Amino acid sequence: MTPYASDKPFNLQSAFPHQLPKAIQWAEERSQEIQTGGVPLAGKGLEIARSVGVQRPEQIRMAFVESLPLPEDEMLRRAALETGLLGPGMVGLTLGYSVLICQGHDSLRLLSHEFRHVYQYEQAGSIAAFLPVYLQQIAMAGYPNAPFEIDEGAHEIVLCLKTNVAMKDGGFKENRKPKRQSRLE
Ligand SMILES: [Zn+2]
Repeated sequence: MTPYASDKPFNLQSAFPHQLPKAIQWAEERSQEIQTGGVPLAGKGLEIARSVGVQRPEQIRMAFVESLPLPEDEMLRRAALETGLLGPGMVGLTLGYSVLICQGHDSLRLLSHEFRHVYQYEQAGSIAAFLPVYLQQIAMAGYPNAPFEIDEGAHEIVLCLKTNVAMKDGGFKENRKPKRQSRLE
């Protein structure tokens, strides 16, 4: 028996205490994978990260993926999708010092947005310290109005630059026009 029948809208606020430990564990595991297999930042990338306040940008690892990973756990996946955190329109995800970017969306704007999340994790001290506050904000205010999202929006760099930000394969493309308005995680 589950308190969340599938025909009812998902209520993150009531699901929150149950989902939180699983969400933290999932985030920590994904983050660890990217720390091991991801790409460190090169000069320009380090500069962008520093410009949005990151204290230790050399710890950042990037992973370029076709789509953002979804939790295998059904309730957790549903929470992520129905709150819009990891929906099909999402093109970036930051988990501690690990940043996932969907291929073709590596714009300066998205990077500065995600690096601002790195700053927020850094200030909180860990994934386990940051995620509860962030998810609580999403549960209370909804994704676009969460204070941590508004803070990031203020730090997005919208200028388009041709620049090398990652060490591997020559860096990032210019900010291209998305086929549809993409949302930033
Ligand atoms: Zn965000």
